[in-house]
Amino acid sequence: MLTQKQIDECGQGLDQLKKPILPLVRLAQMLYLTGPYETFAPLLDELSEPVETGGVSYKRPGTLLRPYLDLLTIFERIKIPRSPARILLNEQLEPMNPLDALDSWVAQEVVNRELESINSQLCRPCNCTLCCVGPDDTLNQDFFEIPLQQEETSLFKLNRIDSPETRLTTSHSEPPLLRNKSPFYQKKTALYHWRSGWSLILPRHSHCPNLDPASGGCKIYPQRPDVCRRPQIFSYVLERQPNHDRDIEGKSLPAFVARKKLLAVWDCPYVQEFQEEIGRYAEQCELEPVFRKNKE
Ligand code: SF4
Ligand code: SF4
Repeated sequence: MLTQKQIDECGQGLDQLKKPILPLVRLAQMLYLTGPYETFAPLLDELSEPVETGGVSYKRPGTLLRPYLDLLTIFERIKIPRSPARILLNEQLEPMNPLDALDSWVAQEVVNRELESINSQLCRPCNCTLCCVGPDDTLNQDFFEIPLQQEETSLFKLNRIDSPETRLTTSHSEPPLLRNKSPFYQKKTALYHWRSGWSLILPRHSHCPNLDPASGGCKIYPQRPDVCRRPQIFSYVLERQPNHDRDIEGKSLPAFVARKKLLAVWDCPYVQEFQEEIGRYAEQCELEPVFRKNKE
């Protein structure tokens, strides 16, 4: 439970949660489709008067949409065809029609960007370090894992465990990878190169080397990895499904399957506190909210 002071400090994040940008993005897409516009930029210039959509009113729609202009341009493919960049499948694994495909692609990216800001505003007042530490004695897991992009590994001054053996297995394979005859998670915090890519492994009672234990803050906050930016509420409009990747026009394209969900991790104090608000946000974005526990 958050204190009233913490809830008050979450005000800005809550305001954003109450006014999702996606309904406005969809209104702009509809105006774009039915209007004479070739690109979104002139359409946003015209959106200067307040509008109401999906039960939410937006005072300056064009200004609110401006930070998402680069994502709206994805939708321009409906009028200005470009080479395919993704394989987009519906839940039955059939190709989506072009409108649904572009709508889902834009929605995934827009919700992700908005949640990055919402998550960081809701996390800060919680004085919580759960995402940056290994399991304690109340939890059953032996370790927590933070997946990293190759280029993000340089943010962590840690041993790198990278061998043909690690690249053939994953952190959850059985039996576990052994290091000096012990399971890897009984060793010190380190970076591992698995079959699925790099990750930071936080064993029991450990913490990320970038966590400042005195303040509970992240020492590399502006540069923190992607996964640390969207810690506990995730856009799951589309799910990446490498099994369905295909070569088109000589290029290997990544495949995504429609899920139309918003995931929120129940371990997080602000997810528990603001369950109702998160549910309403999902509904306004036409997504099914799914609350699940990660740490048992
Ligand atoms: S990089 Fe920062 S935000 Fe990410 S786990 Fe480490 S301390 Fe936490
Ligand atoms: S569990 Fe929630 S409040 Fe705690 S550090 Fe992670 S995102 Fe922040």
